[in-house]
Amino acid sequence: MQNDKVEYLSPDAWRQWHTELLQSTVNRAWDRIPFYRKAMEEAGVTKDDIASLDDISRLPFTTRDDLSLNYPYGLFSVPLRDIVRIHTLRSAQANPIALGYTESDLRHRRALSARFLSACGVTPDDIVQICLDPGMSNIWQDIREGAEQIGALVIPPDSISTGARLRVLADFKTTVLVTTPSYGLHLLSCLMREDVPVASLSLKNAVLVGETLTEETRSRLEDGFSVDTWSGYGIFEALGAGMAYECSQRSGLHLAMDHFIPEIINPETGRQLPPGEPGELVITTVTARANPLIRFRTGDITSIVTEPCECGRTTWRMMPVSGHCDNLVSLRGIRISPEYIANFIAERAGGVRLPCLMILRRRDHLMTMELRIAIGVENFSGSLPELHRWIREVEQAFEETIGVACRVKPVEAASIQDRVPAESGIGVVEERS
Ligand SMILES: [Zn+2]
Repeated sequence: MQNDKVEYLSPDAWRQWHTELLQSTVNRAWDRIPFYRKAMEEAGVTKDDIASLDDISRLPFTTRDDLSLNYPYGLFSVPLRDIVRIHTLRSAQANPIALGYTESDLRHRRALSARFLSACGVTPDDIVQICLDPGMSNIWQDIREGAEQIGALVIPPDSISTGARLRVLADFKTTVLVTTPSYGLHLLSCLMREDVPVASLSLKNAVLVGETLTEETRSRLEDGFSVDTWSGYGIFEALGAGMAYECSQRSGLHLAMDHFIPEIINPETGRQLPPGEPGELVITTVTARANPLIRFRTGDITSIVTEPCECGRTTWRMMPVSGHCDNLVSLRGIRISPEYIANFIAERAGGVRLPCLMILRRRDHLMTMELRIAIGVENFSGSLPELHRWIREVEQAFEETIGVACRVKPVEAASIQDRVPAESGIGVVEERS
């Protein structure tokens, strides 16, 4: 079933359909992926135990660490000849995460992204400009493909200069802006500084992804740009940009339940929570062929509304993400593991683990990061020019790897040691302005 009618199924029809999809997903995982069979056996459940949707709570969870520990092909459920694309993502572990896609996986991903953008009012007549950092390339590629499927004209993020982006916004008469809420505010303040009249723009809609859209930011963007704003949710490990999206009621984000089964759990105990209670969003994909995910822990805290929406859709809605229960750091829509950064620095320091402190602060609405690295005579014997060259190399490598700039500053160990846990060797501080 792959059309928009599915968004209006009755609760009973959803339940029956989800039960069948869950059973076939578990069967595939059990038969074809040794990792899942072993995890299920350890949890004391077999594929034949999944008789109803409620049995989902008997299944073990999958984490991001599981994905990287099974790198490269350990979680693939189809032969490589059926895979048409592979993406890799960085992870906190030594191995990255490898995600494979069959033709049908890519088709579903495009369709989800297109449905999300259609719900935001995007039509073939629109000019869609995507302003996202290179580090969010996975998500903006989903959005580009979805917009292209609709038939809209797409302007991908060619430049990272705000001035150049503003010029494109005006010259090409962009009608739909796709960006993060914080970059939207940054663009707006640049627009005001440069005295560009909003009336000279052709913007109608702003699609906000990568960060939670607060009501305050929504009204500032709507008033400032004179647009309607729409929020979306997606994670790259699962189905990408179109996993949940707002309708005209703006009362939560409709979950793409034709492609995954959502649950909310208590992140401490792992127990399923009832609708309305906040907890960690867990998803089980039911259409993915290459990499089915069973009870994947997103790390995002939200709650779910199961009542049908005023718009007529019966898909459940998630509330805006209110926080995270993993230890990832959010930097302009990009989620970064501090352990990854500690390993990244150690690699560039010849294997020596240098204590580091990540300092996050907002500048002109955008989150910036400064990385203070403890460098002293005990771990550096070169000259000052050599040290400066090394710092520049680290900054460059960071931007190339993470896709966002970072300032690196050498400091005395004593100046950061009270904020750096000894066991991890890396601390995180968010400075509120
Ligand atoms: Zn709705």
